[in-house]
Amino acid sequence: MTDQDPAARGAPAPTATQAKTLTLPRHITVRELGELLHVGGVEVIKELMKRGVMAAINQSVEYELAAAVAGAYGFEPQPEGGAAATAEKPLEAEDAGQVQARPPVVTVMGHVDHGKTSLLDAIRETKVAAGEVGAITQHIGAYQVEVNGHKITFIDTPGHEAFTAMRARGATVTDIAVLVVSADDGVMPQTLEAIDHARAAKVPVIVAINKIDLPAANPERVKQQLTQHGVVIEEYGGEVIAVPVSAKTKQGLDDLLEHILLVAEISELKANPDRPAEGTIIESEKDASRGPMATVIVQKGTLRVGDIVVAGDTSGKVKAMFDDKGRRLAEAGPATPVEIMGLDSVPQAGDTIAVVVDERTARDEAEARARQTAEAAQTRAVTLESLSGEIAAGRTRDLNIVIKADVQGSVEAIHDSLEPLSLPDVRVSIIHTAAGNVSESDVMLAAASKAIIVAFNVKADTGARRLAESERVDIRHYQIIYELIEDIEKAVKGLMQPVTQEVKDGHAEVRAIFKVRGGRIAGCYVSDGLVRRNSLVRVLRGREVMHTSRVSSLRHLKEDVREITNGLECGIGVEKFDAFQAGDVIEAYHVEQKG
Ligand code: GDP
Repeated sequence: MTDQDPAARGAPAPTATQAKTLTLPRHITVRELGELLHVGGVEVIKELMKRGVMAAINQSVEYELAAAVAGAYGFEPQPEGGAAATAEKPLEAEDAGQVQARPPVVTVMGHVDHGKTSLLDAIRETKVAAGEVGAITQHIGAYQVEVNGHKITFIDTPGHEAFTAMRARGATVTDIAVLVVSADDGVMPQTLEAIDHARAAKVPVIVAINKIDLPAANPERVKQQLTQHGVVIEEYGGEVIAVPVSAKTKQGLDDLLEHILLVAEISELKANPDRPAEGTIIESEKDASRGPMATVIVQKGTLRVGDIVVAGDTSGKVKAMFDDKGRRLAEAGPATPVEIMGLDSVPQAGDTIAVVVDERTARDEAEARARQTAEAAQTRAVTLESLSGEIAAGRTRDLNIVIKADVQGSVEAIHDSLEPLSLPDVRVSIIHTAAGNVSESDVMLAAASKAIIVAFNVKADTGARRLAESERVDIRHYQIIYELIEDIEKAVKGLMQPVTQEVKDGHAEVRAIFKVRGGRIAGCYVSDGLVRRNSLVRVLRGREVMHTSRVSSLRHLKEDVREITNGLECGIGVEKFDAFQAGDVIEAYHVEQKG
């Protein structure tokens, strides 16, 4: 086994005295940079490591980083296409003078069976724009209607669950929430849940009091109930508009739509249509004949057929676009929902989509996003301890909490004991409370709002437990109210330290040592578990720990690899250590947060 990169043995690096200019593109792979610098990829990888970046030979790096490495080899780097080409995201420049009013994007939420779907259907049926009558509406996840010459976009998947799930993925699409409350049923548990979800997202709410055609309808009672729960309706001195409607008779729909436009106007929703598009994926699927299809709400700029896009960690070229009537479109401006064809694979709902300059940038960007997602998944956990640490470090001022308890009495007692724990510069923010088990919806809300969940004398539903694990949400169970209060108090004061534990990944025996440029690499056999490129390692000689740091390079045969499993041979480089001896054991581990 040898670990010598042929290129690394090639031409010596130019020295500073030989400084010559080198034109570099916005993105370049490590291999290409190594070739340009005549030093080989391995040397570039080492230079990148010195700058805290772990990159594989085929990964691409941005101009700034490539330029720094080139500088280290005595080159004078300059950007391809001039300085403007290296601006962080050149397409993001927003010309304040070019922003224009844009349609609002509306989500409908409320208790089950209160008429969310019926309302969405009724609005679509009555408001198909002139000339569109007869067009077959397609379900693409959103639709647009026109009212007095103004457009409104409705997200066609009702419910706060979908809304918060998108938010947990970092997407903010909705401008206004329509809260549907049945005039005969009144405020129900999911009505309150929906209110809290909209509030946590800081989205304005308009209430649609539905089913007013029913004899048992009592809109006044609904208004009183809402006001009691903090949603103060205009007639009661508040700012929330409540509109009586019937999805069945279509009574009041115009009034509701006009109020939506009014709230949109007050919110001053604006976007610049004259720039490359950015948006959010709200639905996606793989169509047997058309391939990956994704519904996008364009949020900035104008999306056009032929645009090259990156969407989540995939990319592609917009081959065709369709509106909610299935008609082909050539372009789509801000707040327009469109279904696009031409992505390489199916992105996820909540992913962002952006137009980029060329296919190569799209691929690089998609790759970078995939990397970021993987890294974020490692570090995303929000626990009471980590929040406390953030507070202590002055990085956050909010401790967001969801309270679930066995009975309403305990919910209120906990709420009333926790709220006063706020300090002048740290706010205890109780974003949702309810009696009952911890549900999936609670976990999503916590994930989207970086909150923790306190569960007093209640369990978490199986689905909620699973979701909490994947979303890494901290559910803390208590039976004694005093302990609960004490924990939160400690956290607010920044006194609760993260508890971490070491998890061993595997061991590799050093069997041979290889010289490479600038050091030595251990030729190893992985005897158990695995070693990752980002593993922390300990070099053990017998019982003695010779060195503790991290893997600096990991190769199988001649390829850089992300991980290597037991039974395989590999070359391992260890940061700041190369005094290996045959028989040493490299122990790989990582550190996890406990609890
Ligand atoms: P969702 O669960 O909130 O989406 O509720 P749906 O739209 O599925 O409606 C639940 C039930 O209420 C259905 O049987 C509808 O026909 C009925 N419904 C919805 N809106 C109205 C209304 O305005 N008046 C009456 N009488 N029934 C309605």
